[in-house]
Amino acid sequence: MLRILHAAEAAAQPIPYYVSLNYDDLFKIQRVHNAFPLKPVSFSSLATYLECPGCALDQRRKKRSKEPKHFTHVHQDTLFLQKQPDPRLVGTLLHQIINLLHDSHGVLSEEQRSTLLTSPDMLTSFVQHDLLQVLQSIEKLKMAMFFDELSINGRLLQTLIISPLLRYQRELALNGSTVFAISERFQFKLASTRKTFTGHTDWGGDVALVGEFDQIRLRNVDDVLTPEGIPAIFEFKMGLGKKKSWDKLSSALDDNPISTSSDELTQPGIGHAFQLAIYWMAFQTRWDLLEHVMLARGRGEDVRMQFEQDLDLILYNLRDGNQYQLLFVDRPRALQALTNCIFHLNWAMKSGYAWQVPEHECGKTHLLEDVPQQAIQVGYRAISAQECYLLAREAFHIFKEMIYWRKIPAR
Ligand SMILES: [Zn+2]
Repeated sequence: MLRILHAAEAAAQPIPYYVSLNYDDLFKIQRVHNAFPLKPVSFSSLATYLECPGCALDQRRKKRSKEPKHFTHVHQDTLFLQKQPDPRLVGTLLHQIINLLHDSHGVLSEEQRSTLLTSPDMLTSFVQHDLLQVLQSIEKLKMAMFFDELSINGRLLQTLIISPLLRYQRELALNGSTVFAISERFQFKLASTRKTFTGHTDWGGDVALVGEFDQIRLRNVDDVLTPEGIPAIFEFKMGLGKKKSWDKLSSALDDNPISTSSDELTQPGIGHAFQLAIYWMAFQTRWDLLEHVMLARGRGEDVRMQFEQDLDLILYNLRDGNQYQLLFVDRPRALQALTNCIFHLNWAMKSGYAWQVPEHECGKTHLLEDVPQQAIQVGYRAISAQECYLLAREAFHIFKEMIYWRKIPAR
């Protein structure tokens, strides 16, 4: 049984960065010191590209909005009368507050944090009276301005912020789980070499991925064999979002008439599964492998790992407090499909292939007749960018068949 490493321990390099984790010769995962020279990709850039290459490349050209320099009140009475505030901003804000409750290097003392995690009244009062100032003091000005605006409407503040936080507080207390790490960045490399895949041609490439774990917990599952709990990656979402084209396709195949009627997802979608499965791979670099490395002294650059490490993948819907666990029908096949998908997406994306998917909601009426295409070198053969993109979609469909979600019953 492997032990997980805290970020500080992992940063202290207990295992060499070049060590590759090898899973039944399926693929290799390598921890990298600095992913930047490798032009890393994130889950969201891959998923957006998978959905519509044209839109994804368009989006990348637009600049991100920067953090404002000064705090200003943006009170506009009409702002929230018409529609609900942006769920993504609400999600980010809630996530920020949850982090404050756990951050041992943050502005709140240990005593304050433990009070806020146990007393519903104190947590409510903190949100109503202190949060605005705290957000400003940690220079989260965009969030502070958003929160300031939201606070004018007492009903919205209650339903969108206070209620979810109280639910979070209660859930954590009832389950007795330990929060191990918050907002922890990861970077790793997937390698394809001659030895990587059994019966697979040598692609000779690699993909660097970067991202962030929202929360890592030691989840109490009432098991005598794991009294400290099972490591679990928690991904927070404010609502499950709209169905993507691939979700629509699979719900049309279901017999369940309810799942097809709504445009909103009623349980996590395949995109969410894609994200958590990438996190599964990223998390492998967080096990304490020192013993393995010592044993293979002088020989081992490869560490053979088991697929069945205890690690739960959980999606937590902040909107209603529901939790869902991602499970695999066949984990090796799921991860191989995922790897194939990631590699082909990355190649197609970096070649600049920008086809606009006709059924995508971007509503582009003028599709590019001729999508400029480069030949892409995949191992010993060159394929067209289009073929490369289609291979990614094909792999994604296999991945889709290999996963399912289980709703975790509330305690
Ligand atoms: Zn599009």
